[in-house]
Amino acid sequence: FLPHLVASMEEVEQTYIMIKPDGVQRGLVGEILSRFEKKGFKLTGLKLFQCPKELAEDLHCSLVSCYVFLFFVLGFATLEPRPEGLSETTSLPPRGSGKVCEHYKDLQSKPFFPKLIDYITSGPVVCMGWEGVGVVASARKLIGATNPLNAEPGTIRGDLAVQTGRNVVHGSDSPDNGKREIGLWFKEGELCAWTAVQEPWLVE
Ligand code: GDP
Ligand code: MG
Repeated sequence: FLPHLVASMEEVEQTYIMIKPDGVQRGLVGEILSRFEKKGFKLTGLKLFQCPKELAEDLHCSLVSCYVFLFFVLGFATLEPRPEGLSETTSLPPRGSGKVCEHYKDLQSKPFFPKLIDYITSGPVVCMGWEGVGVVASARKLIGATNPLNAEPGTIRGDLAVQTGRNVVHGSDSPDNGKREIGLWFKEGELCAWTAVQEPWLVE
């Protein structure tokens, strides 16, 4: 039982790490990236990306789909303007991309969801794929608690941020979500499978 448990904890995993717009604006890209690099994880994908502001791209977000459906039912030919009487939190997310809505789909019912979409689409983000033994949980430890005021010193959020709404970095919360989010943010051909020379010095 124990060796099996240890083996499953030591599986090579993929995680999606994203430096949010505040991290980019504050010049923290190198600092954040280097923490994962120094730990010993392998970078598999890296790009600077501006999420589109307009309601375009893929309409994965169910709220957006409902919005479009409603407009057609009501006979409107355009998505603009936002219908009166529908509040921000109960109708549709702000002009965010389907990609971001899909990424945070579990949080769609939260009151802060529209603010979150505005935040993530407010400037470029750095999308990263990282690979390694136990990388998902380990990256979450390196990142620290969601609220930076509760994050331990030494973690990214503990050292570099003060507020939940500006917590500089995202990390997948499970191996399944790691794969899902990498698939969402990267296109085919944007990821690299490669062998790092340091591998035998990191994993026995
Ligand atoms: P994470 O996995 O630690 O990033 O936390 P969650 O999955 O719970 O939330 C995703 C992101 O939503 C967080 O990193 C924050 O950027 C944002 N968020 C979560 N809770 C709040 C909140 O209460 N207020 C605001 N403004 N943003 C929040
Ligand atoms: Mg999360």
